[in-house]
Amino acid sequence: MTMELLDRLQQEMRQLDERGLRRRRRTVETPCAPHLTVDGRPMLAFCSNDYLGLANHPALINALREGASRYGAGSGASHLISGHSLAHQILEDRLAEFMAPHIESPRALTFCTGYMANLAMLAALAGADGEIFSEALNHASLIDGARLSRAAVKIYPHGDTAALADLLGASHAKNKLVVTDSVFSMDGDLAPLKRLLELCERHGAWLVIDDAHGFGVLGENGRGALEHLGLRSPHIVYMGTLGKAAGVGGAFVAAHETVADWLVQRARPYIYTTAAPPAVAHAVLASLELIGGEEGRQRRARLTASTRLLRESLRLKRWTLMDSDTPIQPVVIGANQPALDAAAALAEEGFWVPAIRPPTVPADTARLRITLSASHTADDVARLAAAVNRLDAMEA
Ligand SMILES: *Cc1c(COP(=O)(O)O)cnc(C)c1O
Repeated sequence: MTMELLDRLQQEMRQLDERGLRRRRRTVETPCAPHLTVDGRPMLAFCSNDYLGLANHPALINALREGASRYGAGSGASHLISGHSLAHQILEDRLAEFMAPHIESPRALTFCTGYMANLAMLAALAGADGEIFSEALNHASLIDGARLSRAAVKIYPHGDTAALADLLGASHAKNKLVVTDSVFSMDGDLAPLKRLLELCERHGAWLVIDDAHGFGVLGENGRGALEHLGLRSPHIVYMGTLGKAAGVGGAFVAAHETVADWLVQRARPYIYTTAAPPAVAHAVLASLELIGGEEGRQRRARLTASTRLLRESLRLKRWTLMDSDTPIQPVVIGANQPALDAAAALAEEGFWVPAIRPPTVPADTARLRITLSASHTADDVARLAAAVNRLDAMEA
């Protein structure tokens, strides 16, 4: 019996192998940075979301150490029992203040992960009688949040605000949520947030924004997509992650204080889980200082320069560089196996660029997902571009 069950899994995994869809992990032996030791070998990585290069910053390492000395290792309970530490409260107050130019009567709540924050927002705000209008390329955690909410879900095509306007106009739901990534994680382009916000205001809908790849990266002060586009509205429910540009881990929701209060009452992924270690919150506080200050500005400028350099240096014949101004720079190859072969050939030369395949991206759009960090040097970027150009120029 047991063997039959295992046989079935093994057979399915052989099929994944045959279709170029088997996923594998590499083990990283050194801190997150461009230059890594991976399974015993040196590699130059273009795959983390540590856009500002803060994950291994001495100030954050010290803050984590200091947080552990002050608050201990674990929180011991959920936020609603006894796990809500002074460290979490200070961080929430600081995040609310940081996002205040863009959110009215702001309050912030911290979460263990962005995945959980997305589940929490959608499940608590939509409910079974709500209707969710979800962008076609949304992150898996938003899709799962919509499922958890049991609300009706309408999917609108990527960037298609006219289709969304039609769907909103036809809806009779009292409780409507438009849900979108701000920067699309596998494409690097930006959602038309200004137009989406106008539609939400006209139709009395919430605009739920997942700014996982914008927070810390976009905007003069790193406040993300809302600052970049100059948006502010009580309709906005904002989610930023703290494990990408912020370099630590976790996530937060910033919204009108009534929304935050409601999440504390009803968001099961907030209520029924142990609060993150307080030291993590303490380290994020140090990260916010860097993001909002001069160092953050310098790092964003370096990131922009590297992005420009990469785009100027890539000269592709067979493959397509997607249209993106963000540090996510995808090169679309098409079929799965050629994308895997390209990633393997790059790895052979010491470059780590992941091949992203379905179901993460649509069929026949398998791609190399290059991500840049403020810690990459111009030489790092130029060497990668030369290697990608060489592979692209080879006969298929
Ligand atoms: C990474 C990511 C998340 C999940 O955040 P975690 O903190 O890693 O759980 C959510 N949405 C998007 C768009 C992401 O890229």
